[in-house]
Amino acid sequence: MPGFEIFGDEERKEVNEVLETGILFRYGFEPSRKGRFKAVRFEEKLKKITGAGFAHLCSSGTAALSTALAACGIGAGDEVIVPPFTFVATFEAVLSAGAVPVFSEIDDTLCLDPEKLDSVLTERTKAVLPVHMCGAMARIDEIRDFCRNRGLVLIEDACQSVGGFFNGRSLGTFGDMGCFSFDFVKTVTCGEGGAIVTNGKELYQKADQYSDHGHDHLGGSDRGADDHPVMGLNYRTSELHAAVGVAQLEKLDQIISLQRENKKIIKEALEAYPEVSFRTIPDASGDTATFLTFFLPDENKAAQTAAKLSEQQIPCPYWYRNNWHYFANWHHLKQMKRTARLPLEVLQQVPDYSKVRLEQSDAVMKRALSMQIMLSWTKEDIENRIEKLHTVFKG
Ligand SMILES: *Cc1c(COP(=O)(O)O)cnc(C)c1O
Repeated sequence: MPGFEIFGDEERKEVNEVLETGILFRYGFEPSRKGRFKAVRFEEKLKKITGAGFAHLCSSGTAALSTALAACGIGAGDEVIVPPFTFVATFEAVLSAGAVPVFSEIDDTLCLDPEKLDSVLTERTKAVLPVHMCGAMARIDEIRDFCRNRGLVLIEDACQSVGGFFNGRSLGTFGDMGCFSFDFVKTVTCGEGGAIVTNGKELYQKADQYSDHGHDHLGGSDRGADDHPVMGLNYRTSELHAAVGVAQLEKLDQIISLQRENKKIIKEALEAYPEVSFRTIPDASGDTATFLTFFLPDENKAAQTAAKLSEQQIPCPYWYRNNWHYFANWHHLKQMKRTARLPLEVLQQVPDYSKVRLEQSDAVMKRALSMQIMLSWTKEDIENRIEKLHTVFKG
């Protein structure tokens, strides 16, 4: 999965070009920068890959989510529907916007179940924030239709799924905005980084402004001459990070095709076992293949299998019990542990998350194990892995 596995001369060359000029800032300094604009190049490339009209690089995927929420007008007291299986950044961004994360069930796509959205809808619902988990897509066409029919904002958290498509359309481009992460363990890395994509010019402008203290970037090379249509924050990234990302994005096709090859071989080996079934992927041809997720018949079998795989040095995250990507393990959220009162507490609108029950999601996650697909595996590594899988599953 992670782009860091193939960090090489290409990344070094791009970074060195920035170091040569010493201009680590993405804006201005034209006389010294020799025409080198790494963040801009990254954005151009990301637009090409996704087909989005606009892209904007931020300092992280979390920053991209916060920027997207701000640009889409999500704030105090607004309810945002999110899945219980995601990285914590998804609900953190909603909370920090002063909005209320409302958890809705996932199905065996591991993503939001479009048919369950209605059951958590209230008059305060403002947006749906589906997450394309583990490199593959939600039933995003149905979620989009749900949002359209009810006039809701749709923001996609595609942080784990750059390069993923559904029916030929890039993930992140189905709604108002899409967010990507380029942190160190993602498919493509900047070291730290994230981005929003959108087809809305005004949304893009708001995101561009919000992520840089409200600057409209129309003052030419004099930053002081910029106007400030809105207040914002600093969610910029540096040219050094962008430079790494430029080289990494060039490798995206290669990364995904290698992942697909590796995943296919492992999946075929597991298909021999009738007790194993697989995650539903609504469009398998658009899977980025960062993970192979499979289901065991019940919770006991899943827990036992996870332990046996781990003994064989094949760790497969059992998210339900031992990983904090799932709601069941977010004790800090359930106890509302925070450094200070949250904006939404001022509105006295804090739900008691310890009382939230997600039975359908639990039933999915209790049976699910995921194997991360690595780029660095050799043929031998894969053969060994398959042999060990047979040891575990025959036993
Ligand atoms: C990684 C990730 C994020 C946050 O990205 P960072 O760049 O680490 O801030 C958000 N959502 C999901 C689903 C992620 O996997």
